Amino acid sequence: MEHNSSNFIRNIIINDLESGKRNHVITRFPPEPNGYLHIGHAKSIVINFDLADEFNGKTNLRFDDTNPLKEDVEFVNAIKEDVKWLGYDWDGLFFASDYFQQMYEKAVLLINKGKAYVDDLSADEIREYRGTLKEPGKESPYRNRSIEENLDLFDRMRKGEFGNGEKVLRAKINMSSPNINLRDPVIYRISHAVHHNTGDQWCIYPMYAFAHPLEDAIEDVTHSICTTEFEDQRPLYNWVVEECEMKSTPQQIEFGRLNITNAVMSKRKLKQLVDEGLVDGWDDPRMPTVSGLRRRGYTAEAIRAFVRETGVSKGSGVVDSQMLDHFVREDLKLKAPRTMGVVRPLKVVITNYPEGQVEMLDAEINPENPEMGTRHIPFSREIYIEQDDFMEDPPKKYFRLFPGNEVRLKHAYFIKCEDFIKDEDGNVVEIHCTYDPETKSGTGFTGRKVKGTIHWVEATQAVPAEFRLYEPLLSTEETEVDEDTEKTADTEKTFLDQINPNSLEILKGFVEPNLKDVEPQTKIQFFRHGYFNVDPKHSTKDQIVFNLIVSLKSSFKL
Ligand code: ATP
Ligand code: MG
Repeated sequence: MEHNSSNFIRNIIINDLESGKRNHVITRFPPEPNGYLHIGHAKSIVINFDLADEFNGKTNLRFDDTNPLKEDVEFVNAIKEDVKWLGYDWDGLFFASDYFQQMYEKAVLLINKGKAYVDDLSADEIREYRGTLKEPGKESPYRNRSIEENLDLFDRMRKGEFGNGEKVLRAKINMSSPNINLRDPVIYRISHAVHHNTGDQWCIYPMYAFAHPLEDAIEDVTHSICTTEFEDQRPLYNWVVEECEMKSTPQQIEFGRLNITNAVMSKRKLKQLVDEGLVDGWDDPRMPTVSGLRRRGYTAEAIRAFVRETGVSKGSGVVDSQMLDHFVREDLKLKAPRTMGVVRPLKVVITNYPEGQVEMLDAEINPENPEMGTRHIPFSREIYIEQDDFMEDPPKKYFRLFPGNEVRLKHAYFIKCEDFIKDEDGNVVEIHCTYDPETKSGTGFTGRKVKGTIHWVEATQAVPAEFRLYEPLLSTEETEVDEDTEKTADTEKTFLDQINPNSLEILKGFVEPNLKDVEPQTKIQFFRHGYFNVDPKHSTKDQIVFNLIVSLKSSFKL
């Protein structure tokens, strides 16, 4: 694995090890199982696993499943699959919910120390009392309950004596702190809900800000890496670790989120796309989810290389999605076999080629990687070419087929357009050509030159295929920068309004016969088109479905 890029978190770890502050490194990836992973999560995964790996440390996969309502085993399984597919093996596999008893005991400890109290204020009242950035907060009338009363009420909260929202447990810190996170944050709430892991064992659940530092400390995590929106919570994180008297003292370190042009990157919005049926599931090839990218055909190697290239910094910039495309082209260049596929077929009859005759031609599989060898492709009197590769009345500098012009068929012969047939509506439906046997590819023919080379597929053995071409899901340059800053009903509308109605185009064409039994997830380069992946969900025995991963850099527009 490459670890050559320098980043500030790496420097912190080096200093910690050199100064003796730490003698080991443990990181964790802590997803909430309320959706599928997206490429932003992939960044967090790569950072956490790579850093631990570099310093012979460990990385845990920990499900941060403290919210019973939004979580699901489907998500747990999908997340595990995605982390593995990205190329990582976790050390410990943990669930925050396995720590509920310990967290409860820590809450009791805080009450006993006079550092937590049960509050009867409603959620709205708590918000009102909290104050603003300019004004200090107001203390709750319940703030000075006795330890005994708090212990009793918290116990009864746990036993289910109160309804949702009737009471909460709050940390007793400082209602006039300039940091609003320290104004007696809620640390436990009541929720009479069945939890995916603990069932109905609990009806009180710890809040993220209380649970997360405890989870880290319980696992002896040394460097707790998260994104910058948690920066203001760091003092609370440290307060929880200290006041709960945890043996381990993890350090929270924040880095800037990854954002990508034209991509929705919030789980909430991705879920909305799925739930409203606007996409073909979480793994729709247009989704920036890890499973969507996988189904589209992006490779784990390319995603890791991309994420590493974006670096680790405090700022959260927007990265151009073309950078990811660059890395997948780099990865597939030498690996993917090159073959021919026609996405908008037009029949060509080679009138001087003997009827009924089929010959096999040699074709290199990847000219940049000769070790991949040679394939054999049939050639006969009837072939398909691309509709775009013929024009009745071409402009200047059009070097492909038009009446009287000669082109090279890749791996085959020169053919010359002699005639064409139109249907009643004036569409060209068939081209008649002659071929020159002297010009066979590989024979060293130098008699004359042609300016155009086009691809083709022999008609009688051609395998029908569906090609799915994609554009970004969002049509504008609008890029999701930070979900939490715009949760108004208004932006909700804008987000769905931005959906690109042309994000999926389905074409029916043909590919070479040697692709007949191609396996799902195989990556192929179609000559002049780009890199494609065999769709694992929609390919059938009768029709292969190819997802366009990326076009070739200099290819003509599909
Ligand atoms: P979302 O904002 O998409 O809903 P989240 O932060 O709520 O994501 P979690 O499951 O809590 O999702 O995230 C797990 C880890 O992934 C966290 O450490 C989080 O900071 C990190 N993460 C999430 N999104 C990004 C991103 N865009 N870039 C980098 N890291 C991210
Ligand atoms: Mg989160």
